[in-house]
Amino acid sequence: MELALYLHIPFCTKKCPYCDFYSVPEIPDERLYLQALLKEIDLIKYHHEELFSEGPPRIKTFYVGGGTPSLFSPIFYEKLLDKLIQTLLFQPIELSIEANPESLTFEKAKGYKDLGFNRMSLGIQSFNPKGLEFLQRRHSLHEALLAIENVHKAGFENISFDLIYGWRGQGVKTLQKELQLALFLSPSHLSLYELTLYPKTPFFKKYSGLNFLREKRLLMLANLIENELLSNGYLHYEISNYAKEGFECKHNLSYWKVEPYLGLGAGAVSRISKYRFKNPESIRKYYEYILDKGTLPVIITENLNSRELIKEKIFMNLRLTEGLNLSEIRGYSFRLKEEALEKLCKKGLLSIDKDNLRLTPKGRFLHQRVVAYLWDNLEVMK
Ligand code: SF4
Repeated sequence: MELALYLHIPFCTKKCPYCDFYSVPEIPDERLYLQALLKEIDLIKYHHEELFSEGPPRIKTFYVGGGTPSLFSPIFYEKLLDKLIQTLLFQPIELSIEANPESLTFEKAKGYKDLGFNRMSLGIQSFNPKGLEFLQRRHSLHEALLAIENVHKAGFENISFDLIYGWRGQGVKTLQKELQLALFLSPSHLSLYELTLYPKTPFFKKYSGLNFLREKRLLMLANLIENELLSNGYLHYEISNYAKEGFECKHNLSYWKVEPYLGLGAGAVSRISKYRFKNPESIRKYYEYILDKGTLPVIITENLNSRELIKEKIFMNLRLTEGLNLSEIRGYSFRLKEEALEKLCKKGLLSIDKDNLRLTPKGRFLHQRVVAYLWDNLEVMK
């Protein structure tokens, strides 16, 4: 089996008010977190035999996300990589690490590069000082530009920028200027996320129902992004992701293609065949399991049945521009009702080419609603 391996670093200097990822605003104890991860890797090797019945899995991509992975030193990652190489069939072709501008020095970037990381994803979020202020980021525009320079100087060629659009005060002209600067800096990959109000975040309480988040405005901004990036040679390969040819994120493609992945660290999720697991979203509990009890903290959240697997496939595959192949659904003896597909095509949300379903640009924007409708029109083949 081939696996995508994810490592979660659940620490940030401060929590951003829109963020619903699991991370805590604490100064991390690098040594203790490393100790737990090394133990977790050993435990995985010895306790997951039934999952890897065909033999040890080969790790084909490695992604360090968070939280803020750039809070950790290259020495931390060196020890971790040594352990992965000794313990697993660790042969990734892509090794990504996320970084935030305020915690990424040249020395750190160079250290990561020297260890073999070959893709850097920078949490820029906005190229406008007002955007950074609204999002309550901890870096200035100047620091963002400096971090980009450092990443280039360190030798990274595959660089991605994370940006958020739709913040209050961002009009067409503001967004256009941000995109111009981003394009001038010529990253190989861009992730552009619509500002989303997740329940339980401070932004949810503060901004729910406000005018600046109305659908029409966000759709206009999304269209502007697509037009600008396509005309500058980027491929729009996933709802929120653009890449120069050959620079699509291989690790994230595994998620969208519903391929197996393994997660390490507090709050990390794994999906192997029909099982989905999750480590506790609590650093204290994670340490308690691994270091005190010496057991995997894995909570088996789901043993997916065929219908759930298909639903996941519909949801994830339709995020991709290459879309969903209907034969895969039939392979599980399910089908989508013809009349439902016709209705979505008529509304300009879906296109069908032989066995392949793809969302149109308008459909991509309404992805969740289209998927929910398809789920309601999924039936067992007689
Ligand atoms: S830095 Fe990233 S992970 Fe941390 S709180 Fe902000 S958005 Fe969330």
